[in-house]
Amino acid sequence: MLLGTGAGPLPGMNRHMQSSVLVHDGAAYLVDCGLGVTDLYARTGLSFSAVRSIFITHQHPDHNVEYGPFLIIGWIHGLKQSVHAFGPPPLNQMTEDYLRSMKTTIYFWAEDFNLKPFGMIACTDLPQAGPVMEDENVKVTSVLVQHPPVHPAYGYRFDFRDRSIAFSGDTVPLEAVADMARGADVLVHEAMDVQATEEMVRRESTQWHDVSFGTMMHHMRADHSPIEEVGRIAQKAGVKTLVLSHMTPDSTGLVPDEKWIQGASRYFKGKIIVGHDLMVI
Ligand SMILES: [Zn+2]
Repeated sequence: MLLGTGAGPLPGMNRHMQSSVLVHDGAAYLVDCGLGVTDLYARTGLSFSAVRSIFITHQHPDHNVEYGPFLIIGWIHGLKQSVHAFGPPPLNQMTEDYLRSMKTTIYFWAEDFNLKPFGMIACTDLPQAGPVMEDENVKVTSVLVQHPPVHPAYGYRFDFRDRSIAFSGDTVPLEAVADMARGADVLVHEAMDVQATEEMVRRESTQWHDVSFGTMMHHMRADHSPIEEVGRIAQKAGVKTLVLSHMTPDSTGLVPDEKWIQGASRYFKGKIIVGHDLMVI
């Protein structure tokens, strides 16, 4: 299920920042925690106690900023102390620091409602790509993607018994993502419409700390994937379904769904789904 499908740390848009959840046999696996994840998760009707693991692709705010708040609000609603988080360093330190900063709040709430205070969770830093975890439902592996200057930044592949789902994370078009996703049922890939992004940046970049058009577009090209290239990667991977999420420009309605599909289908011949918040796949 897609939760937030937006790109970048842009509040107030139609699409929320990045987050997705995979559900298998009553266990929920959360991928990324952009702003809005807690609210969107609650709206799915899934129980917070179902959350087994949390995976962060990379340490950018549109992917991690609500990770801590998700833990605290989740705890109040039954999130288990046994939840296990995985992600690039310094995730462990960030978790400790956040929970320490909230200690007084946690203890007030615990005292008021006779709860066991939420303490430090199991948290695994992933300094390099490779196997991430395995339980009775799923085997998770990561691949290093290219999203400078963020290092490491990962894509993840989830192999369940009955299906495989790969996430590109934020990256330029990468053969390594095609390799990771090879034969998967679903590839969830970020995407950028270059022309519409240029128009948006030209219009709005002066509001972003006076970042110049050239600087912003250099970042976009060095860090993200033009939609046609996303289709090429999906075709190379041989996936059945390509799901677009983290779309740039995402929220302004400038790029209709048909245009995304047209771009991706230049090279990809499978099923294409344009992601929207709270879409169940
Ligand atoms: Zn992002």
